[in-house]
Amino acid sequence: HARQSYVGVSGYHSGWDEDHLRRLQLLSDFRPALECGEIALYFQPKITPAASFPVGGEALVRWHHPQLGFVNPEEFINVIESAGQISLLTRWVIEQTIILLARLHSERQHLVISINLSALDLLEDDLCEYVTALLQKYRVGSACLCFEVTESAIMREADKSLGNLERLHQLGALLSIDDYGTGYSSLSQLKKLPVDELKIDKSFVLDLDNNADDKQIVKSTIELSHSLGLKVTAEGVETALSRDWLLANGCDTLQGYYYSKALPGAEFEQWLKRFLL
Ligand code: C2E
Ligand code: CA
Ligand code: CA
Ligand code: CA
Repeated sequence: HARQSYVGVSGYHSGWDEDHLRRLQLLSDFRPALECGEIALYFQPKITPAASFPVGGEALVRWHHPQLGFVNPEEFINVIESAGQISLLTRWVIEQTIILLARLHSERQHLVISINLSALDLLEDDLCEYVTALLQKYRVGSACLCFEVTESAIMREADKSLGNLERLHQLGALLSIDDYGTGYSSLSQLKKLPVDELKIDKSFVLDLDNNADDKQIVKSTIELSHSLGLKVTAEGVETALSRDWLLANGCDTLQGYYYSKALPGAEFEQWLKRFLL
């Protein structure tokens, strides 16, 4: 139906057409944008609250489109995922992250960078081989990488996804359950997954200071994680008050605008250097 949408019929455009056209444009511009550097990888610091020390960060894509301006990553990731092209982006993210890690000599500094994986990435037979080859090429240790996945992404094709997660884990990379609390969660399933960390979704953290229910949910999640031997990260930490509360309640790692938004690679490196004096 793509061609129909391009034909402007006497000035008439429904909302569907505009939305469809935008998706088509994002899809056709995506690959060249990746190649010419229009799409960039940013890194948001993660901190241990107890020591106020960086443990690393999360890789997050940014696209400044020349006509459309800043495009929300959730929007264009949804588009390229629907078109079956997400692995192109994921592989680029993995390589850019490993290049940064090589520059940081992170083995010595024990920095870990997290990478988001989509449901379709977990179905790629050679994902682990791809990661292994790049770690060798750039001489970076596998323990410097953490892969963030949502439970719903794993459940799309649980057997195949679990196989991939097991291989990544055996390689020595860390695994984290992303957006924890937002979807269906099965504790019996969670126990079977080779995960190291639960990441509490920012929707429970942003309003922590004013919301007693969120406090209770976050507190229980921290207790649950620790009882399963998992670390907990809270994302969306925006205030000193919520930082203090999370610290007092045993949260292991914090991420949020209170510390920093996602930064371009060079700025992220500068940000880290402040702690290495
Ligand atoms: P996510 O994995 O849950 O990432 C966390 C999001 O929370 C990021 O949004 C981050 O900028 C935002 N955030 C962090 N701290 C705060 C805070 O204190 N306050 C508020 N209000 N927001 C905060 P972002 O970068 O827009 O990414 C949105 C989503 O897009 C991500 O959610 C992830 O699902 C997806 N995404 C981003 N980069 C990638 C990527 O390279 N690959 C894949 N597959 N997905 C990605
Ligand atoms: Ca994430
Ligand atoms: Ca989230
Ligand atoms: Ca997400």
